[in-house]
Amino acid sequence: MSVPERMLQFVRLRQQLPERRAAAERTDDFDEIYRDFAATGAAAQASRCSQCGVPFCAVHCPLGNNIPDWLKLTAEGRLQEAYEISSATNNFPEICGRICPQDRLCEGNCVIEKGFDAVTIGAVERFITDTAFARGWVKPARPVRERSASVGIIGAGPGGLAAAEQLRRRGYQVTVYDRHDRVGGLLIYGIPNFKLEKPIVLRRWKLLEEAGIRFELGCAVGQGISFAALRARHDAVLIASGVYRARDIGGPGAGLAGIVPALDYLFASNRMGLGDRVPDFDSGLLDARGKHVVVIGGGDTAMDCVRTAVRQGAASVKCLYRRDRANMPGSMREVKNAEEEGVEFVWLAAPEAFLGDGTVDGVRAVRMHLGLPDPSGRDAVEPIEGSHFALPADLAIKALGFDPEDLPGMFGEPALEMTRWGTVKVNQRTFETTLPGVFAAGDIVRGASLVVWAIRDGRDAAEQIHQHLERQVTLAVAAE
Ligand code: FAD
Ligand code: SF4
Ligand code: SF4
Repeated sequence: MSVPERMLQFVRLRQQLPERRAAAERTDDFDEIYRDFAATGAAAQASRCSQCGVPFCAVHCPLGNNIPDWLKLTAEGRLQEAYEISSATNNFPEICGRICPQDRLCEGNCVIEKGFDAVTIGAVERFITDTAFARGWVKPARPVRERSASVGIIGAGPGGLAAAEQLRRRGYQVTVYDRHDRVGGLLIYGIPNFKLEKPIVLRRWKLLEEAGIRFELGCAVGQGISFAALRARHDAVLIASGVYRARDIGGPGAGLAGIVPALDYLFASNRMGLGDRVPDFDSGLLDARGKHVVVIGGGDTAMDCVRTAVRQGAASVKCLYRRDRANMPGSMREVKNAEEEGVEFVWLAAPEAFLGDGTVDGVRAVRMHLGLPDPSGRDAVEPIEGSHFALPADLAIKALGFDPEDLPGMFGEPALEMTRWGTVKVNQRTFETTLPGVFAAGDIVRGASLVVWAIRDGRDAAEQIHQHLERQVTLAVAAE
């Protein structure tokens, strides 16, 4: 099949992302930093795609999105069809278009990238679904026929929600349980508004309710309701509870006031943005205004903290990371955004002690140098003797990553087996745990990962749950 004339424009047209607001303007508020694509801009950028026979972009998209197809339809102005194709493989394309690390996934593998800069796949994906919402094309996933079997899902993050929507589409009675008071998991309370505006998450919640999915919020499984009771209520259960045990840092001064875990800090900021009252923010504990802030860590969570602190009006914001820029786990695009917004990166430096009397007023750190790769393949870090230095800090934020909580303990279910990393052990093909009829998906299986992977797992687990329930029906009929 020949490539339509309208495509292959990368030789003529330069890559152009939607306009990014200037740093001085965007740090005055918590709004997203990219403006919307104009329809002509999206069509032009989509037309840069060369419609590869083997599209590496799609191969490296965890959802296997049909990227060339929706790019071509966008270039031709056939946006409703583009939306149908894009939403066939992704429950939340407008969210992935905003927050996937595209440089490591689809765009990082676009074959025109080498000489010409990748097609702006994420921005076009976001544009398609935002347009679909604006024009009323996005409809609740109402089933053609109802089924009596019910599924209980623990966790209203992207993994649980994607599974809920897929199962509801097939007609199952779905209830999602979450310990928080809003739907979205880390989409609502973890990821800051300047990356993902909250109305985008809230409108998905509304649609899922309109589809007939029930939500029991403020309901912590293992406390509000027992895991055994939940299993008894449903024909199948999906655990999509994410990972929340923050890795800690010890050493002298670790107990001083003003040293806070990253998620406490980000949750407070997101709740304030949603209009909630947060006593620890009002008291100043989780507010960076006027403070010298030091964030410890180098991942995306650390980037979200430093950029939040800038927006709250911190006096200074530093990011302390023990490796160098090249070895940073966070997205380079986020590092660049943070630098533009005034964040200072202190590379190759690790904290040794927190300073202060009752309340933190500084962090003592030591310079590091990179050694040979360790067993994980990453360069090992070693302290440089006598290289200590101190940074002023009225607020120190620990962003060192997350581990899973003790689920067998929390659920009172010792037969739920875990891996040696503390994640839930599942059959890789069926997503079933060691408990019959109980499945698991998302971060609680993979460890801290990405939204797009949680969606993928949620979709796959939903398909497996459907097959499991179908088998139960067949067995019941055979037994009659
Ligand atoms: P979660 O989103 O964590 O949702 C799990 C839900 O389960 C939560 O709502 C929780 O309240 C609920 N729950 C837990 N235990 C119970 C219980 N016992 N009873 C009831 N409910 C329970 N990924 C990206 O792709 N791009 C990004 O830019 C990005 N930024 C991030 C920024 C931060 C600060 C963090 C922490 C993560 C970020 N991630 C990002 C990762 C991404 O958010 C996660 O990989 C994703 O949300 C995992 O989805 P999930 O559904 O498995 O779990
Ligand atoms: Fe790229 Fe993420 Fe969209 Fe896949 S879901 S095409 S990786 S932005
Ligand atoms: Fe188009 Fe790039 Fe994907 Fe090829 S790899 S189909 S050029 S977006």
